[in-house]
Amino acid sequence: MIKKTIFVEIFIVVSVLLCVLIFRRQTTVVTQTDEEKRRIALTFDDGPGKYTEELLDGLLERNVKATFFLIGKNAEMYPEIVKRIEQEGHIIGNHTYSHVKLTCISNEKAIEEIRKTNSIIENITGKKVEYIRPPFGNWTKKLENSVNMKPVFWSVDPRDWSVLNTDTVTCHIVNNTSEGDIVLMHDIFETSVDAAMNVVDILQQKGYEFVTVEDMFGSEEK
Ligand SMILES: [Zn+2]
Repeated sequence: MIKKTIFVEIFIVVSVLLCVLIFRRQTTVVTQTDEEKRRIALTFDDGPGKYTEELLDGLLERNVKATFFLIGKNAEMYPEIVKRIEQEGHIIGNHTYSHVKLTCISNEKAIEEIRKTNSIIENITGKKVEYIRPPFGNWTKKLENSVNMKPVFWSVDPRDWSVLNTDTVTCHIVNNTSEGDIVLMHDIFETSVDAAMNVVDILQQKGYEFVTVEDMFGSEEK
């Protein structure tokens, strides 16, 4: 009789625990989906440059994290800025050493462009570079397997490098960006840096959160 009671008690305890676990799992999933829905990743290519620090000040003030795809040559020129980007919690990616079309040169040269840039950045930050944005979006699976890095493309392109107008760039991004978008900009232009600040102010008010590509991809993989 006692044995039977103990068995029933154990059964009840296990059932309650299972219910709690299932319920917690469900609530976690719901919260994650809600968060993901309002996430946007701002990405800045071609730097660091003379406006990058102004951008970093603005992002810090607004508590925004972004992703910077650096050109190796420029990283060599501005190591202090590279360090600051890393220290302030942004993600640094590779944008080749001399901004080449990777599919228009030999595989060996392409790998060299990428590896050289990785080692410049890694020597400054002490952190492994995992992401690459191939200039002009030129990329192959062969290259991806050779360097074992994650390519990051984009879904919103305001063509800021050609427009060079703060209001036009701001307007294009605000009108074309929603949940899960990756916005492409260039922090080597003052108009782009100003537009980025406007975009953050407008979209934060609408309830969007700005995250790095690592946060964006990390939540997709879960
Ligand atoms: Zn570029």
